Order: sequence, then structure tokens, then C-alpha cells
Amino acid sequence: MDTLVHGAIGAALCSRTGLAGGRRGPLRGRKRWWEFSDWTLWAAFFFGIFPDLASLGIHFMMDLFTGNGVRWHGIPDFIFVLYDVTHSLLGIAVCYGLLVAWKRALWLPALAWPIHVLMDVPTHGQGIFLTPILWPFSDWTFAGWSWWLDKRIFFGSWWLAGGLWLAAGLMRLSRRKA
Ligand SMILES: [Zn+2]
Repeated sequence: MDTLVHGAIGAALCSRTGLAGGRRGPLRGRKRWWEFSDWTLWAAFFFGIFPDLASLGIHFMMDLFTGNGVRWHGIPDFIFVLYDVTHSLLGIAVCYGLLVAWKRALWLPALAWPIHVLMDVPTHGQGIFLTPILWPFSDWTFAGWSWWLDKRIFFGSWWLAGGLWLAAGLMRLSRRKA
């Protein structure tokens, strides 16, 4: 799935501002109109895009700074290693454990990371970006349907993100009326 929609869906599911906040919503009470969110929103968005940011994102940044423009070719090997780590169950389990040991409250927003990878599994078709979910134990991958080739998956994922945020908003409204 495209990186931004991962952030939008991760934040919708794994933040107190989103659905995980339930009817109570963000951590601190709503004081002023701009305080519609709490830190878990931004943290969940970050963890939602993190697997791509910490792999392909580094490649694109390097390309940009070296004046090559953003290219999909010439991706160095270490980027694929990072892609393996950030898109595998083992990599996630280790990083998630370290994150939560460091700051317990990260348990919720950091769940956006495994959700990103679980969504990648069916939406990446044959090619170099199949999700290495069982790395380093097995090369097994699931050849799904590429979101970049199928507009229905691309738009469907944004509709899903919108629907989740709508549900979160309605839940909040139902509390204010009660
Ligand atoms: Zn990804």
C-alpha cells in the first residue's frame, strides 16, 4: 500500500485520537479547538510509515541529496536488508519489544508498524518488493495484487482510511451527545 495511507490507517486504528481512543478520545481532555489530537496520533502515523521510511525512504533521501532525483532503480543492497528487517515478523517483534521496554506507552501507536506489514502482504504482487514476512528463516512470500497496478486497491485503501476516521469521529460525537 502507499506509504501515506499506511500512516492514515495506522493512526486511525492505533491512536487515542483515532478508534483506539474509543469514546473518550485523546489522552488529554479537549481544551481548545486545535487540541483535537494527542501525541499517539502522530506516533501512530510515524510507525505506520516507518517500515518504508527506514528502508526505501533512506534510498530516496540519498538519491535526492546526491542530485540523482528520486529513482526506483539502483537501490543498494543494504536498503533491501533494511526492507527485510522492517517488513518481517522477527524484525518487528524485536523492535516492538525494545520500543515498549523503552517507553511502555508506545505499545499502542507502535502497533501501526505490524499493521503496515500485514497490509503489504496481500497488496504487493510479483516483483522485488514482495513482503519478506518470514525473513530470515524462510524466503516464502505471498504474491498478492500490486496496489500500484490496481487502482481499486489504491482508492479502496484511501476509502478504508476515510471510513475508519469517520467511525472514530462518529464515536466521539456519540459521546458528546450522551
Ligand atoms: Zn511497506
